[in-house]
Amino acid sequence: MREEAYRNLSAKLRGDVITPANGEYELARRVYNGMIDRRPDAIVRCADVSDVVTTVNFARSEDIAVAVRGGGHNGAGLGVCDRGVVIDLSPMKGVLVNPATNTIRAEAGCTQADLSQAAHDFGLAVPLGVISSTGIAGLTLGGGMGYLSRKYGLTVDNLLEANLVLANGRLVTASAVENPDLFWAIRGGGGNFGVVTSFVFRGCPTDQVFAGPMLWDMEHARELLEWYREATPKQPEELSGIFAFLKVPPEPPFPEELHGKTMCGIVWAYCGALDGVEAAFRPVRKFRAPRFELMGPMPYPSLQSMFDAIYPPGLQWYWRGDFFGQIPDRAIDEHLKFGEQLPTLHSTMQLNPMDGAVSRVNRHDTAFSYRDAKWSMVIVGVDPDPANAGKITAWTKDYWAALHPYSLGGAYVNFMMDEGIDRVKAAYRDNYDRLREIKRKYDPNNFFRINQNITPD
Ligand SMILES: Cc1cc2nc3c(=O)[nH]c(=O)nc-3n(C[C@H](O)[C@H](O)[C@H](O)COP(=O)(O)OP(=O)(O)OC[C@H]3O[C@@H](n4cnc5c(N)ncnc54)[C@H](O)[C@@H]3O)c2cc1C
Repeated sequence: MREEAYRNLSAKLRGDVITPANGEYELARRVYNGMIDRRPDAIVRCADVSDVVTTVNFARSEDIAVAVRGGGHNGAGLGVCDRGVVIDLSPMKGVLVNPATNTIRAEAGCTQADLSQAAHDFGLAVPLGVISSTGIAGLTLGGGMGYLSRKYGLTVDNLLEANLVLANGRLVTASAVENPDLFWAIRGGGGNFGVVTSFVFRGCPTDQVFAGPMLWDMEHARELLEWYREATPKQPEELSGIFAFLKVPPEPPFPEELHGKTMCGIVWAYCGALDGVEAAFRPVRKFRAPRFELMGPMPYPSLQSMFDAIYPPGLQWYWRGDFFGQIPDRAIDEHLKFGEQLPTLHSTMQLNPMDGAVSRVNRHDTAFSYRDAKWSMVIVGVDPDPANAGKITAWTKDYWAALHPYSLGGAYVNFMMDEGIDRVKAAYRDNYDRLREIKRKYDPNNFFRINQNITPD
């Protein structure tokens, strides 16, 4: 019965409908996180906006649950569902840069690499995240933070417009002048309001960045964290440093004596004029010489893909996060304890800086609420072997539980697993009620519910 319905749907689309009967199904249902193993009834690979409209109308009339997939990178695996239909935007990868207005229109199936490479050719960039295969859609709708955020803000702070297909199948524009309530909601409120088919971003002038990791031995972790919390917020906004605990990958360019060693480090990105590099890094050089560093000038898209090879698709991932306004000494004690116990080669803890331009936006101006945070912490247990899923999950949860009391109370929605409604509310604080009102207006039946869900009732 359903097979026949999907055959009929397929006849109306330019894109493909992949069901379990199709040879591509096993590959098509996979998402980036290998821990996620869901079996949708069908995956619709949309070729264009009208495919999205047709599929939304089909799923609504057949009362079928819908998951929406951009890059498939969501930690909780929200880009795929059991039973139901996946609206897969990944074939929609058009990017149009307008150098006259410094704006970039990108379709919702773009990865960060697709967008950044096209923008770079025009000396522009959009502040996005750190792994280039991440989808721009899920990332943007949650907020979007990365190397350029101290200078240029979150991804949503550079969003000018989006086109969405609503639950009733209508295509609308959300911007400061058209459906401004919807525009407010999609800047942090996730996939709750419709299927975004394209975004228009402001391009930020960016060409070469001076960037890369500096690593120190764990015996210096306490003084590094103390220095980091005091010094980095005072640095120029062109300079951004992500603090991390990590195990050194056992391959070049890392020296053999460090392979597999647990270390602490900062991944730097300086996006100012290159003649300012020496002055920008003077304070960290004064603090203590790193044991190893791999710094240099590079095009921004190269920085964005620097760690891609370490994190290929299909690894097991378990995430937890929180926002922090400060890092008290007792929180440092806990960081040191759990940082020393990194359970696997790929596991890490990162502090992403959130000050500078991010903090200059009022917390009620976008659905993204934590404008008062200085750091967004993410703890990720990662390993290729499913047998280690329990180990990485336990370490992540214990680490998170130890740090949560020092946090501002909630996490970045894109660094969350399926953690329940209270955690979703904590992610939005007093913006949650307005989000719920807007959800009632645009999706009163909660058609879009496979996400960090804002329930209409
Ligand atoms: C290795 C890695 C590194 C990361 N680094 C960063 C980082 O540096 N900065 C950062 O901000 N985040 C980062 N993230 C988190 C990332 O932002 C989220 O995982 C995000 O959900 C990925 O978007 P996606 O489109 O790939 O996800 P998908 O799994 O495809 O989608 C996730 C959810 O987004 C919504 N969605 C996706 N597409 C659409 C659409 N077109 N319309 C409506 N809703 C849609 C849906 O609710 C969907 O369930 C990282 C994730 C990974 C795995």
